[in-house]
Amino acid sequence: MKCLICNSDANIQVKSTKWVEMYCSGGCGNFRISTDLAKRLYSIKNGFDISNTRAWLVRARLEKPVPQISGYDYSVALLEKNNPEI
Ligand SMILES: [Zn+2]
Repeated sequence: MKCLICNSDANIQVKSTKWVEMYCSGGCGNFRISTDLAKRLYSIKNGFDISNTRAWLVRARLEKPVPQISGYDYSVALLEKNNPEI
C-alpha cells in the first residue's frame, strides 16, 4: 500500500482495531496511525505536511520506538498540510 504521509511504498506491519502500524521505505520509517485518522486521510488528498510530520516522528521516537499519530496529534501538532488540494 501507499504511505499515508508521503505516498511512497509502504508495508503494513501490524493491524489492530484501533491503529495500523506501517513501514514507509520513502523516509517516514515505522509509525502507527489511528484507524479514525486513517479513514479521514483516505478521503482527502495530501493530508500531511511531509516535512513537519517527519520531524514530529523523529521527536516522538525519542520517547517511543514506534510513534502513534492520532487525530489529536494531527490537529494540534501542525501535521496538517496548510493548503490541501481537495
Ligand atoms: Zn512515507
